[in-house]
Amino acid sequence: PLRETDPVIENQITVCVRKRPLNDKEIRRREVDVVSVPTRNQLVVHEPKHKVDLTKYLENQHFRFDYVFDDSCTNDLVYKFTAKPLVKTIFEGGMATCFAYGQTGSGKTHTMGGEFKGKQQNFKSGIYGLVAQDVFKLLSHPKYAKMNYAISASFFEIYGKLVFDLLAKKQRLRVLEDGKQQVQVVGLTERAVTKVEHVLELIQKGSLERTSGQTSANSNSSRSHAVFQIILRKNGSKHIDGKFSLIDLAGNERGADNNKSNRQTRIEGADINKSLLALKECIRALGRKGAHLPFRGSKLTQVLRDSFIGEKSRTCMIALISPGNFSVDHSLNTLRYADRVK
Ligand code: ADP
Ligand code: MG
Repeated sequence: PLRETDPVIENQITVCVRKRPLNDKEIRRREVDVVSVPTRNQLVVHEPKHKVDLTKYLENQHFRFDYVFDDSCTNDLVYKFTAKPLVKTIFEGGMATCFAYGQTGSGKTHTMGGEFKGKQQNFKSGIYGLVAQDVFKLLSHPKYAKMNYAISASFFEIYGKLVFDLLAKKQRLRVLEDGKQQVQVVGLTERAVTKVEHVLELIQKGSLERTSGQTSANSNSSRSHAVFQIILRKNGSKHIDGKFSLIDLAGNERGADNNKSNRQTRIEGADINKSLLALKECIRALGRKGAHLPFRGSKLTQVLRDSFIGEKSRTCMIALISPGNFSVDHSLNTLRYADRVK
């Protein structure tokens, strides 16, 4: 398995997978763990053959990624190999993005927003908060301190074709593209921040906004993409020098499931599917010089357009999987998608 002391790969595109432990619900249903992590970059899915005797496997499907995090890995370790190496990118003229991809319940919000203790979430332990901490560290680093950078943050949600401001009571926002192909979310709240505690407050506020007013059976957060951004500008300037976008994607099972009874759910599924496909194409374009960037394929890729441009820009995809045998189809879908991102 991956260790703290292992080398960090400095790629333009990093793709990795994190497997969470079986949870109480899965254990009560007598699910078995069908995912194993033989080495730090390999993962094997054992497809059960019998519904009854789950110890009999149909076949083993092997995958290889930049890193594979098994169920003993902490958020800190995942962070070290994924988003952390990208923080310096935004101080050096590039854009950085980090995506959490996977089915609902696989651990996207746990990884990005922070670990849950019951209903409480420890925002300090999530990738949003860990990035913020390192951004302030670099801000005062001798190498960058003289640059006179100012930091701000925004947090919004994309639901179908609609955009909502998570720092302004889910106010609906419009997305505009000007003649120079610059994309702007009009009126998006952007808070100036001078220390990590400020950012953690915003993360908490936006996260609570995101999950408020919903029942657990019909979780709205699983149907929307959440985009948290840390923005770097020279003091007093309007020009963006660097931006780190951290995205907790909508549950990918919404796009994969074809037996949807209700029309609204079907439309949502199609929208999510479309945005995840557009996302994959845009990330691939980042890695290929001169490749067409199909950013108009979805609202998500449209608002992230500038992040998929430039030789200095970097991106990281963390695919999350549930290890139980009931989730095997969704897990294989997730792994195949992640496999094709690079
Ligand atoms: P998602 O956002 O993908 O729908 P969550 O992040 O909300 O999933 O995770 C679902 C549940 O699983 C939560 O209760 C969370 O605390 C738990 N969980 C997720 N990842 C892990 C992990 N690596 N270790 C322990 N528990 C986890
Ligand atoms: Mg979530």
